[in-house]
Amino acid sequence: MSGRRLLDDCFLTDSERLRHDEALAILRARIGRVVEPEEIALEEAGGRILAETIASPRPVPLADNAAVDGYAFAHSDFEATGGWFRVAGRVAAGHPQAVPHIAGTAARIFTGAVMPDGADTVAMQEDCEPHSQDGIDFVAVPPGLRKGANRRKAGEDLAAGATIASPGTPLRPQEIAAIASTGRARISAYRRLRVAVLSTGDELVRPGAPLSSGQVYDSNHFLLRSLLATIGAEITDLGLVADRSKAVQSVLAEAAAAHDAILTTGGASRGEEDHLVTSLDTLGTRHLWQIAVKPGRPMSFGQIGDCVVLALPGNPVAAFVCFLLYARPALLALGGADWREPPRFPLPADFDLPGKKAGRREFLRGMLATGGDGRLAVRRFPRDGSGLITSLREADGLIEIDEETTAVRRGSLVSFIPFSAFGIGG
Ligand code: AMP
Ligand code: MG
Repeated sequence: MSGRRLLDDCFLTDSERLRHDEALAILRARIGRVVEPEEIALEEAGGRILAETIASPRPVPLADNAAVDGYAFAHSDFEATGGWFRVAGRVAAGHPQAVPHIAGTAARIFTGAVMPDGADTVAMQEDCEPHSQDGIDFVAVPPGLRKGANRRKAGEDLAAGATIASPGTPLRPQEIAAIASTGRARISAYRRLRVAVLSTGDELVRPGAPLSSGQVYDSNHFLLRSLLATIGAEITDLGLVADRSKAVQSVLAEAAAAHDAILTTGGASRGEEDHLVTSLDTLGTRHLWQIAVKPGRPMSFGQIGDCVVLALPGNPVAAFVCFLLYARPALLALGGADWREPPRFPLPADFDLPGKKAGRREFLRGMLATGGDGRLAVRRFPRDGSGLITSLREADGLIEIDEETTAVRRGSLVSFIPFSAFGIGG
């Protein structure tokens, strides 16, 4: 915990609101894994979080093998033969040579085939000249190959006993392939997090229905649903909830009993039509509200019973940014993943930002660009407006401007967080 009093004053100034780091510290301190391990088939492992340590029981690859199609020979025979080898034996992938390698000869070999005992080097077939004479095959191997060329060593990918991944690792295709390479067909992973999603706002309509004056389509539901899919959550759609505290409370109370987390958008401020904060206070405990960031100031985090509630702002850009910065790591941690800060890359700004307010952290939508000097730089989406989903489509990531900064000049370095750091890189 930050040691600060919990804040619930809607007239807070930025200096009284929680700083970004404080909000993260509260989430980190309060949130831990709530899911149990279960055994799953490797086919189901995509996007899941590993619940065991996986080590390779044997070397991968198991034996030395050829990296190319060609001819295998003992490098020490090269001098004596002058590179002119009789071809004895033929080894293809999956068919190790039954007879031992004959010193001074070369074996015809194909990619992935086990190296014959005694052979240590492979010449690529494209570089060799085969000849047949009196029914005997020969091959001329060019000079200059170093010992061990075009040979893959046993265990060069994984030594026997090498650890691939430990509990808390989100499984990417790379990890799953590595696990498969060790022969494991089933693994222990944490069960999927059960997350309920609801949108509040009397103006909201689900896509597919006609739109009347003053209404907007509920894009946030689809935003959150897709974002949740990237972290492997199991989603319950609680639909649209009216701007009435009774309605909000009854939906929250029911959902809290059956889910690990509830994600809401809209109604997160302290206006008369905003009911999330008061509902959370009535039904459970609020751990934070109001962060000195832009976009996304009104964001609540609390719990109803054991169910975590993350109440995101209604503006789509704010909902998106708050999800990435706060809800995503929190949900991943609930689901058993290690808490990881996204990497920041320093890049020259291809924009000016005069007169930034001190005391709050800003996250601009950034597009990678080539600066005047030909180096990589970052532009900002030119229009403000937290309703502009266009800015999220155009951007490659977020530009982070910290609390102390009051102006950014073109050419100065800014922190860039690529969307890929949040699992949504295109
Ligand atoms: P609120 O946070 O409820 O004050 O909403 C802020 C702005 O976001 C308003 O313009 C809402 O119409 C808009 N908004 C709220 N929820 C959604 C949603 N689910 N989809 C799209 N826009 C929304
Ligand atoms: Mg609203």
